[in-house]
Amino acid sequence: MYVKDVIKIFENKYPKSLAYNWDNIGLIIGDQMSKVEKILVTLEATQAVIDEAVENKVDLIITHHPFIFKGLKKINTSITKGNDIYKLIKNNISVYSAHTNFDIAYDGLNDEIVKRLDLKDVLVLDTTYDQKLYKIAVYTPVSHQDCIRKAMADMGCGNIGKYSDCSFTFNGVGRFKPLNDSKPYVGVQNEIEIVEEVKIESICKESNLKQAINNIIKAHPYEEVAYDIYELKNTGKKYGLGRIGKLKNTMKFEELSENVKKYLNIKSLRATGNLKEDVNKVAIVSGSGSEFIIKAHSMGADVLITGDVKYHDAQNALELGIKLIDAGHFGSENIFSDIVLQYLQKEFDSIEILKSKSNIDPFITI
Ligand SMILES: [Zn+2]
Repeated sequence: MYVKDVIKIFENKYPKSLAYNWDNIGLIIGDQMSKVEKILVTLEATQAVIDEAVENKVDLIITHHPFIFKGLKKINTSITKGNDIYKLIKNNISVYSAHTNFDIAYDGLNDEIVKRLDLKDVLVLDTTYDQKLYKIAVYTPVSHQDCIRKAMADMGCGNIGKYSDCSFTFNGVGRFKPLNDSKPYVGVQNEIEIVEEVKIESICKESNLKQAINNIIKAHPYEEVAYDIYELKNTGKKYGLGRIGKLKNTMKFEELSENVKKYLNIKSLRATGNLKEDVNKVAIVSGSGSEFIIKAHSMGADVLITGDVKYHDAQNALELGIKLIDAGHFGSENIFSDIVLQYLQKEFDSIEILKSKSNIDPFITI
């Protein structure tokens, strides 16, 4: 297995296209063609984590926070970051980062908190992208209809809710005249050919459209493939930062706070609002989400679970009447390693995947 194989599987679920454009994600250090036998997963690639990777002969580190975020002017061993990069390259360790794409994607950080708190009727809190949908119609000889349908389905065409491979087929007659220099699959040059054909229609999401057309052309017997693409008014999935949903049972704010500690495996958190009051509608923004206090309140949230809350944000939340749980930036995102570990273990039998032991919260509670 190579770095590129791991990236491909990872980005199937957490596409780079979902990230904000200010973000710095993807393969930050290393070579796509390096072999991977061992992966280390961590929120942050600190010096201690890099030493841990070297010690354990790790080939690839996967981080949530971008390993390089701001521009670097020098890479040498007298600068902390330079030393880290030098050490990684010397030890042939690649670093891959998945940041806002991992926050936004389904089954990413925010959805994991939703799952752990068992929320229902869950919506995206702040939509950043509405998936566009297209209809592809392709004309093919009857003999090739199955392989064209497969070529489309292999690229996710025809996925509708809980169903896959959805398509519609019409029978018909195709007519064409191969011109000079053509090499027709059926028929001869400069004579009208009549062929029993089918028209296959299937739905396709924007991100797969190009590849789906490539697949169809590869599987099709004709030199020139006739196909139509229609943009649809149907709306696809909504993507965005944060989630909002309801607790299965209304509970006291105190109980929810205790649950957050338990499910995020953290020793302490900060909260604003009356602990004895009931809460039901919960908004979540992992990491640093104070800027979504007003949005969460406008969508009817009783409480926003996030991290990195500043004093004035807490005051504003109190005034607005929305409760806050500040689980810490580290505390609300450290589950990144659990999610990635679980996903990659399912996908790769032959790769050993470790969760970093040296990536710790820089804050201590006294
Ligand atoms: Zn973060």
